[in-house]
Amino acid sequence: MNGLVIIGASYAGIHAALSVREAGYSENITIVCDESWLPYERPPLSKDFLLGKATENHLILRDETFFKDRKIDVLLDTRVAKIDRLARRIETHGGALRFGKLLIATGSRARRLAVPGGDLEGICYLRSITDAIYLRAQLLRATDVVIVGGGFIGLEVASSAVRLGKKVTVIESASRLLERAVCQLVSDVLHQMHQEAGVDVRVRDTIMSIDGNHGKVAGVTLSNGERLRADLILVGIGGIANDELAVGTGLTCANGIVVDEYGRTNDPDIHAAGDCASHYSRFADRWIRLESVQNAQDQGKTAGLAVAGRAQPYDAVPRFWSDQHDTKLQMVGLSSCGDDLVVRGSVETGMFSVFHYRKGALVAVDSINRPGDQMVSRRLISAGVSPRPDEAIDESFDLKSLAKTIEKTGARA
Ligand code: NAP
Repeated sequence: MNGLVIIGASYAGIHAALSVREAGYSENITIVCDESWLPYERPPLSKDFLLGKATENHLILRDETFFKDRKIDVLLDTRVAKIDRLARRIETHGGALRFGKLLIATGSRARRLAVPGGDLEGICYLRSITDAIYLRAQLLRATDVVIVGGGFIGLEVASSAVRLGKKVTVIESASRLLERAVCQLVSDVLHQMHQEAGVDVRVRDTIMSIDGNHGKVAGVTLSNGERLRADLILVGIGGIANDELAVGTGLTCANGIVVDEYGRTNDPDIHAAGDCASHYSRFADRWIRLESVQNAQDQGKTAGLAVAGRAQPYDAVPRFWSDQHDTKLQMVGLSSCGDDLVVRGSVETGMFSVFHYRKGALVAVDSINRPGDQMVSRRLISAGVSPRPDEAIDESFDLKSLAKTIEKTGARA
């Protein structure tokens, strides 16, 4: 069999398959996936799924008929062991599969916590639906939950766990929550919000060991020597690109599989997209590897269009969101690139946006409960146009009109 083979059936793989088919590609498309589930939504895993508001079936993105109708074969429970570039084939435990074009969309995996006691029962990670099923079962019978890592996974699970009535402690090694993703002000607001909701938040701290009892988690010892009771530990300390198949076949990798603006690797017949890929971003002015739904979808689509011979460069503004307690955090652009910031809205009422500038140009906007600011900021950042800082903080200044004018005329009125 030739045609397109896609390794990985999450957002990047699926969007590539759909876009390539919609673009008129008539050859075989086969998606190979090592999970047992049809492609599913991941954001609810840390929230509605843990709270029992969504079941496994609610999360399935597309059913079998959907793929059949589009002549896309999905091979579940099939792990790829090797890519043989010379023979143009992939090798799985079930046999080999030839490809004309290959897309690697293998995603990322959770970084493991390497401390004594790290293999006790009751230590959970959250990446896949299988992880979420295990975590949910453990959570239901847990009393004291310790969360290692105050990043997206840790804070979203903390919100769900306190809602389920658990005693929750978050241990973050950095000096503030979500340090790499948001600015100090947003970190502070989130910190306060979690504490008010009953989460015990510890920053500049880490776990030295996990203590067990009959093979199960019983507590943790912190770097300051303090011991905490725990019958469940959730570890969310970042992700690692699944790029081993690419490394093994000699593709260029550096914190992920290096791709150009069309999702192409250094082999013109092999593309990569999503969490496993590293690309140059004009929004960051450097090479980046993004772990987000938006990036996986858009970069997957880009790779699909390139395979279909309808290449369009990838140029989407990075976007992220996170629901914690009753607060919606949304981010557009990469705030870590900024050197100045101003605030629009009211921090006191919990509805505000932080506008980040680099050398006077708008590079990112982080919003707390202000979705309207996100939509318009995305258009502004994408067009490379900035409201002046005094305009950004002035709520009577119409950001939408500015975006409209620029999109129509290419210049400020
Ligand atoms: P993350 O967002 O990168 O956060 C991990 C946090 O854990 C970081 O603040 C990190 O600090 C800290 N940390 C690292 N080692 C630690 C240790 N030994 N003890 C205590 N803290 C430690 O990673 P994540 O929460 O695991 O999420 C994994 C990936 O999934 C991320 O890329 C995330 O963006 C993505 N995700 C996104 C969403 C969303 O967009 N809503 C939701 C879930 C997951 P340092 O930065 O100093 O290492």
